[in-house]
Amino acid sequence: MPISPSLPRHVHKFRQSFLNQFNKCPEAARRSHLGMGKDRNTSDLVRGNAVHGAIETYGFAWQEDYEAELEEILQWGKEEFANFSSEDNIEWKQPFEKTEAQVQKNIEVWYEEVLPLLRKPISIEEKFNLLFYEDDQRQIYLTGTPDWVQLSEDGQVEVVDWKNPKAEPRDLWIEDRSNLQAAVYSWALSAESFTLYYLHWNESKYRDTGKDKPNYTVRRIPRHIENEPALQELVISAAISLEANLPALPQQWDSWFCSPQWCPHWSECRGKHLGEVPFWESKQ
Ligand code: SF4
Repeated sequence: MPISPSLPRHVHKFRQSFLNQFNKCPEAARRSHLGMGKDRNTSDLVRGNAVHGAIETYGFAWQEDYEAELEEILQWGKEEFANFSSEDNIEWKQPFEKTEAQVQKNIEVWYEEVLPLLRKPISIEEKFNLLFYEDDQRQIYLTGTPDWVQLSEDGQVEVVDWKNPKAEPRDLWIEDRSNLQAAVYSWALSAESFTLYYLHWNESKYRDTGKDKPNYTVRRIPRHIENEPALQELVISAAISLEANLPALPQQWDSWFCSPQWCPHWSECRGKHLGEVPFWESKQ
């Protein structure tokens, strides 16, 4: 069927996580866009999903003016963990019992230390799908699912996101400069800020220091309106690269992402030559 000249030639729908992947490795993003590779289901994912699920349930209950006790949210965490950990083909990078214990601890940290800093959510895990850019060549939609949205005391929208890393995050200066999730979500919700809470309870911290350090790290990234035309250029550049339908895009090796643990295309890309345990990992 001939395409009407009034219709845009290309329509893109980019998840914010796709844009992140494009930043990490254009070739990985090209392959994902074509439906190649398979996302791995790992214990990191199980841990994050279970914690997110329990917090989500708490948030929905709070919207109905029910504020659950710690025991209750821990129980929700157990149920979420049982659900996610029963899926097939999970790679247990951390033992089952340790992952389950970490889920419980992260929920406890969220309840005891983070919740007192939050306000009642106005939305939880609500997906957006918004037209971000269009010209006569293309339309680009951006999609995402913010964990938690609340209003500040003076009625400004604040987006909040939970991360469940294995250890305390480092080099957070880069978040202010380059966090794409913050830029996309702040634009989509006209939010004043995007705040990351990293939940990272770690027993050794107490053993080593004996100090009562917080078990979370918080990073508040204000919306930078002046960054949005730059975000637009980045998004258009990703669209144009895909529209060109090239057989390959630049490979980005210089990142933690380029490894069998993280890149879903490893076995068809560098892994074809290096195997599933590359030389640097076999030396560890
Ligand atoms: S293996 Fe490395 S270079 Fe290849 S697609 Fe993945 S991240 Fe990119």
